[in-house]
Amino acid sequence: MSGVLKKDPVERLKKAIGKEKVSTSLAQRKLYSYDATPIPVERKVPKAVLFPESHEDVVRIVEVCYEENVPIFPRGAGSGLTGGAVPTDDGGVVVSFERMTRFSVDPDNATAVVEPGVITADFQSYVERLGLFYPPDPSSFKYSTIGGNIAENAGGPRCLKYGVTREYVLGITAVIKEGKVIRTGNPVLKDVAGYDITKFFVGSEGTLGIITEAVLKLIPKPQARATALAVFDDLETVGRAVTKIMTSGIFPSALEFMDRDAIRAVEEFKPVGLPKDAEALLLIEVDGTKTSVKEQIEQVKAILEDMGVEVRIASDRKEAEKLWTARKNLGPALGNLRSGKINEDIVFPRIYLSEALPKLREIARKYDLLMAVFGHIGDGNLHVNFLYDKKNREEEERAERAVDEVFELALSYQGSITGEHGVGLTKRKFLRWQFGDVGYEILRGIKLLFDPKNLFNPGKVVEI
Ligand SMILES: Cc1cc2nc3c(=O)[nH]c(=O)nc-3n(C[C@H](O)[C@H](O)[C@H](O)COP(=O)(O)OP(=O)(O)OC[C@H]3O[C@@H](n4cnc5c(N)ncnc54)[C@H](O)[C@@H]3O)c2cc1C
Repeated sequence: MSGVLKKDPVERLKKAIGKEKVSTSLAQRKLYSYDATPIPVERKVPKAVLFPESHEDVVRIVEVCYEENVPIFPRGAGSGLTGGAVPTDDGGVVVSFERMTRFSVDPDNATAVVEPGVITADFQSYVERLGLFYPPDPSSFKYSTIGGNIAENAGGPRCLKYGVTREYVLGITAVIKEGKVIRTGNPVLKDVAGYDITKFFVGSEGTLGIITEAVLKLIPKPQARATALAVFDDLETVGRAVTKIMTSGIFPSALEFMDRDAIRAVEEFKPVGLPKDAEALLLIEVDGTKTSVKEQIEQVKAILEDMGVEVRIASDRKEAEKLWTARKNLGPALGNLRSGKINEDIVFPRIYLSEALPKLREIARKYDLLMAVFGHIGDGNLHVNFLYDKKNREEEERAERAVDEVFELALSYQGSITGEHGVGLTKRKFLRWQFGDVGYEILRGIKLLFDPKNLFNPGKVVEI
């Protein structure tokens, strides 16, 4: 022993960024050990919660943590559904970006430079006042952050036409191993220089480093929207209808699906007058100019009526908003039916939907479970919800086994285990199923290139 006492890393962090940006209160540490994941996950209470106020603060944090071997758990709003922001090591620190909320917009270049803690809805309403549009619209947009959206590659209904968060990230600044800084991309629309490191960070779930700034692409705001509701008596016709619409030359800005149990859940929660005896519904939105949306929605109606499907076009904005509120209320509405819910977000290639939808029902029947399916059917991304009684362990286990089969089904159709919520903790075991051994080793290699000590969000996405 040298006789020199080693300084507590938290004390070093306080010195590095200022003690007012470091919390060690037990209440706060416990509060920041949760996210919105609905099922139990491995969770530890962190040593401290850090509130950096600038890029430089983050560099100092990572320098200290890397020297002291302290795991770092980045956190946006904690709205993630797969345990991404949950600390898995009680010797680690949570880094929250709620004080990094600056952004600037260049309207002429249609780009913005954004700090990670900016709330997505705040940014969207700001750019819309300038006639610009930032489309990624996770249902959590009112409270989730741009940093969390980038780290999860978040998406929502509008991503059918406009693409997910990935399409809007032109560049990032990130702090990686030892506090080194990497800047990728520029505020330009075309850039094919070298490997696309920006995209490595999109969807990296905090495992490669900390994003401290992003350059985002903006597009012109559409002038008008129109919404229609289509009512179906069988699931097979839904799949065919989706293919018909998507190959008709019309590109809907949203094409959302609700099955019978989802409809009933909404009507029991906050009724909006959806037909409770329907097998399924499609909610269709088109956007563009005032004249074009009228024409497009009438065309969609004609296509569906030709197939014998009943269609109602929302007469005004108020009626359209009512329908969209019903769609957005689905999460809490399902929570109302049972105490436990496993919500997966698998993806199928669109052409297989008419086969896959009845097969999902078969899985629910096999395991004798209540299941509700809804989601972004236009891009094949479905939210499959198994509902169970949390106190009934046997039923919960059946739900877990059913989920395994759901993932197997998605992969058997060349789909994906996740279209939105990411891998985090809850889907780690399934990632290897999707990538195979060689692909999985490449993922691990990429992780270790940026983070050789496995200190950034350890335990998430890939197993090291
Ligand atoms: C009701 C509800 C509805 C939802 N609907 C959708 C939906 O429609 N579509 C969808 O895609 N998701 C949805 N989600 C999931 C969730 O909101 C998204 O994943 C969102 O992007 C998470 O953002 P956040 O700010 O809450 O991040 P957090 O949950 O705090 O973190 C998410 C991940 O990002 C990492 N992270 C955060 N900030 C940084 C940073 N600066 N640098 C590096 N890593 C970082 C964290 O470590 C973690 O791995 C929903 C969640 C809820 C509760």
